[in-house]
Amino acid sequence: MALADFSRYPLTFGPSPIHPLDRLTAELGGARVWAKREDVSSGLAYGGNKVRKLEYIVPDILASGADTLVSIGGVQSNHTRQVAAVAAHLGLRAVLVQEHWVDWPDVTNDRVGNIMLSRLMGADVRLSSAGFGIGVKDSWREALAEVELSGGRPYPIPAGASEHPLGGLGFANWAHEVREQEDQLGVFFDTIVVCVVTGSTYAGMVAGFADLATNFGDRPRRIIGIDASATIEETRAQVARIARATAELIGLGRELRDDEIDVREGWAGDLYGIPVESTDAAIHLTGRLEGVILDPVYEGKSMAGLIDLVHDGVIPRESNVLYAHLGGQPALNAYAGRYH
Ligand code: PLP
Repeated sequence: MALADFSRYPLTFGPSPIHPLDRLTAELGGARVWAKREDVSSGLAYGGNKVRKLEYIVPDILASGADTLVSIGGVQSNHTRQVAAVAAHLGLRAVLVQEHWVDWPDVTNDRVGNIMLSRLMGADVRLSSAGFGIGVKDSWREALAEVELSGGRPYPIPAGASEHPLGGLGFANWAHEVREQEDQLGVFFDTIVVCVVTGSTYAGMVAGFADLATNFGDRPRRIIGIDASATIEETRAQVARIARATAELIGLGRELRDDEIDVREGWAGDLYGIPVESTDAAIHLTGRLEGVILDPVYEGKSMAGLIDLVHDGVIPRESNVLYAHLGGQPALNAYAGRYH
């Protein structure tokens, strides 16, 4: 099967926009920096990368006859907020397990931002004391069993929709979308930079760009993942597994090589969800120079990586680098204590 053979239920306005970040480019004095904006590509609850992943999962949800989406994330999970929005849009219920992934002192943490939006959209939000983890969790299994016991028909969506067999397809298609936009813009993006936590965003891109290079005669390019999980080995293993499974699913026709998977550490700090100096600097710089808003959990960390890689010339000067902006701004409200 090829990527084009999978059904896709539209939840976005169309291709997410790409635009240059010229003032940031001038400041860094290196490669030309562009952004592709998942944060403004859907009308569902501020959008983000999970909406794109869910476009390939919704046909399976509808075919299953489920009446309740059951998912999991941290208290300020962007993913669960997007699941709540998709459930509302489809007329389904949402049960969301919100774990204690981040020890953050802001007293409003479990009342504002993503969790507030999920409540506003009618989701059944359940706080859990379990800590951070990107794998399959007991609290989520328990929520699934509970929905069944009460006579509902649950549809399980794992954290970040990553450990779902179709979880990588949305961003494999993102690669094909980039290819079409390059033709329209008359540019080639030599390097892509993207944040990595649960893995299927980056893994999907790796599979999608490998598909373009292998089966569509495209020039190869570098896809750099910036880790924001601070559990690098587990994240690398999960990424490799999802990238290979997605590549097989879309008929790549060869094994992905280890050197095609490039997840870098150095900008996550010690813990998921806790911004460090480089995160704050990236948030302030991008806001001040471009009017583009980044969050302290994900995009601030991946932009910090891009800034260093461009500034140090690791991404060559005479090239174009595409920053994947995956959304996440609602979480900023929960960090008011840091940015007041
Ligand atoms: N950026 C934002 C705003 C997110 O919500 C997420 C979700 O985890 C990511 C990046 C990382 O994506 P993934 O979990 O697919 O690695």
